[in-house]
Amino acid sequence: MKLKGWKDLPPATVVPAATAEQVETGQWRSIRPVWDESKCIHCLQCWIQCPDRSIKANEEGKVTGVDYFYCKGCGVCAKVCPKDAIEMRPESDFI
Ligand code: SF4
Ligand code: SF4
Repeated sequence: MKLKGWKDLPPATVVPAATAEQVETGQWRSIRPVWDESKCIHCLQCWIQCPDRSIKANEEGKVTGVDYFYCKGCGVCAKVCPKDAIEMRPESDFI
């Protein structure tokens, strides 16, 4: 029996690549990080540890806020902050 080559296989579903930037993962969030600039020492621990690159920082290495479009509310940033400058609050507080 002759084995099939890749050209003999039926077409399958194609999933377009590189779509993660378009997915608003912030919609999954039930709690949100609230950053207190007055407590922040700009150590960037939150920026380094955030799994979603949702901590915003400028070119001078200063934190400027949170990107709620992507932030899933995991709370890692609040856990690693040495100054308690990030508080996790329920989304219901912001309706
Ligand atoms: S971890 Fe805390 S103190 Fe450090 S940059 Fe982030 S918010 Fe500021
Ligand atoms: S809650 Fe999680 S996803 Fe959101 S900014 Fe903090 S570490 Fe990033």
